[in-house]
Amino acid sequence: MSSVRLDEERVRGIYCHSVQDLAYISMLKEYRKLLFSAYGPRGSSILISNAVGRETLAASSSEIIKELSFAHPSVKYINALISAQNAACGLNGLYTGMLCVRLLEESLICEQDIPHRVVSDVSEWIISELLELLTQSPDEVTMDLDVGDMQQVTSFVQTILGAKNCLGLNKVALDDLSLNIVKAFLKSIPNEYSSGGFGHVTVSTQERSSSINSKVFDGVLYREPDISPRKIEKLKGVGNINIVLFTVPILYVEGETISVCWRASETKEKCFINKVLLCLLSCMKRRNIHILANQKPVHPVIKFELEREGFLVLERMGTKLSEAVTKLSGCQAISNLANLTLEMNTAVLGKLNTVEHINYSGKSYILLDHAEGSVSTLLLPVTSPSTLTTLKETTESCLAALRMVVVDGKVVAGGGCLEAWAATQVSQLINTNMQHLTDLTDASPYHILKVASAFIRVFMELALQPRGGSSTRFDWSVDSVFHHLWHTQPQISREDGSGSCSMQASRASPHSCMCGLVKEDLVKYKYNGSWNPVEFQLHHDFTLQNSKSTKSGGCSKAAKSPRSAGDLNIKLNADSTQSNNSSLSDFGFHNLDLEVDSLEEAECTTEDEVDSLEKIINSQEEEIDSLEGKLDSFDAEEDMDSLEDMLDGIIEQSNINDKEHLKVKLETRVQQALYDSFPAKYNAIRLALEGFTQLFHVGQCVFDK
Ligand SMILES: [Zn+2]
Repeated sequence: MSSVRLDEERVRGIYCHSVQDLAYISMLKEYRKLLFSAYGPRGSSILISNAVGRETLAASSSEIIKELSFAHPSVKYINALISAQNAACGLNGLYTGMLCVRLLEESLICEQDIPHRVVSDVSEWIISELLELLTQSPDEVTMDLDVGDMQQVTSFVQTILGAKNCLGLNKVALDDLSLNIVKAFLKSIPNEYSSGGFGHVTVSTQERSSSINSKVFDGVLYREPDISPRKIEKLKGVGNINIVLFTVPILYVEGETISVCWRASETKEKCFINKVLLCLLSCMKRRNIHILANQKPVHPVIKFELEREGFLVLERMGTKLSEAVTKLSGCQAISNLANLTLEMNTAVLGKLNTVEHINYSGKSYILLDHAEGSVSTLLLPVTSPSTLTTLKETTESCLAALRMVVVDGKVVAGGGCLEAWAATQVSQLINTNMQHLTDLTDASPYHILKVASAFIRVFMELALQPRGGSSTRFDWSVDSVFHHLWHTQPQISREDGSGSCSMQASRASPHSCMCGLVKEDLVKYKYNGSWNPVEFQLHHDFTLQNSKSTKSGGCSKAAKSPRSAGDLNIKLNADSTQSNNSSLSDFGFHNLDLEVDSLEEAECTTEDEVDSLEKIINSQEEEIDSLEGKLDSFDAEEDMDSLEDMLDGIIEQSNINDKEHLKVKLETRVQQALYDSFPAKYNAIRLALEGFTQLFHVGQCVFDK
């Protein structure tokens, strides 16, 4: 290779760097930190001083993307994924970005000592298998939401609102808001199915008022500071009130608007006003129109004259409000003033039942409604100006999520349970398909484990993120039936003086999992399940391949495994099970027995094991993670894992297809459970995983300047 350095002059105009560049990885790390910091109930807002020197608070992915200008193409790519997610589902944008950037980061680190092709092949296999599992909406983590059950639906909304810590809503405000969001949403559902789909919920905010509560109104609320109630009175008892809507400003703009025959005695503007006013007045009288509404402004003279004639003029409505009026009244807006008479004569008018003057918390509004309009207005409580955007945006997210739930009906476990499940799935997929994968990718099991561990680590981190991350992995456990996330409550007891100890407790669980959909009793008694500390990496049992007996002594694992496998073989034909975990119960072991078993074994095996056991008991953060070490020795706490692995192997061989027996099912009647929208979360995961695959194939980033 030549050592000649090109002088800067010659390379100017293009700047490349490899993605293996350390600066690139550290840039990804900074970007990831930014996204993670705003995520979940423990997340915080980000104070941004942007390029033009304006300070803004950002607390959502869309605000971060809007306020910050990112330069690097791969970060821009991830931002595009986030935007796509927000546009499609209205939520889980941050999640999409976090999952994608973390996988990219971990894979680039993997790539430092594993060939790119291996990392890429193994990742792609895991991704396709995982997405395949998710499309089947697995019973361990998904369930149908009963839209008629207010409790469930409000819990669902509360999960979304509760994930935004910066809103600073207390319990009362949270309850009030979530209930009103659901109420407003229900009002937007048409009585009969119409091709137009859902109605409309307008989200408005109250300015400078004292109300701390949200309120729902039927119809559209138009803020009119100086309306005289007498004007509205006139419309009472009219019955069908006709409305015409414009989406162009009724103002004179040089060269743009209506052609005016200019006469020397008057200004062009005056001519415009006269012509438009005459046309409007005659058409409105002839077609019996009561209200002229405009998304944009109306010339003050025209407004004044129309109102003098008894018409109601509602101007500067904005896009959202005029959309709502269109939905509500069924009108078609006029968007062109060029041939006003023709437009006015052929315009599809809207119909209203109610036009009322409303005074709410010291403010004057006009309420427009139609009985079949399926349009409602949600007036949000007053918050600080800095959080107003986030509040509005989060409310819109809730409404979007509700719409998805009504159409699809599926929700997925929140609070980190879905991610814990995903991590477990990756671990099981690898453990049951190791041989297949080594054949398929030509990679060594060690490399496969390392890539899979990256996935497990990323999912587990995402699972723990809503709780502010993990200080020690023994604080958290995953159950063996649903694979949900549990907070472990340590209660370690020493049984007797002889040094033998019981460890029931580091695996003891609280009353329910993090999402609340799995109860302790259900796992313990119905499915005979157990709890294991969370894993940030894959533990694979190589005894299946190497048949290498590492233990000696009467109570070695080698003695136990065949016994277990034998027992299982008998059962398997009759009892085809969905997962290895449910088969555990077929042993007739109680989860506690298993633990005692493993403890007894631990006692009479090598010193290493006793060592590690003590470390667990002391609740020290102990990552027993040297993979090479695992090949040689087994830790007591891995008994469950290795047992599971063995079962996996057996299940695979016996090719079971009947999944009905012992089918797991989430609880449906749970108060305050954490649900996420399944379609939104699925879309987020799919976008992130596919985006990661694309980005991982990037070798060079080029800045064309
Ligand atoms: Zn759960």
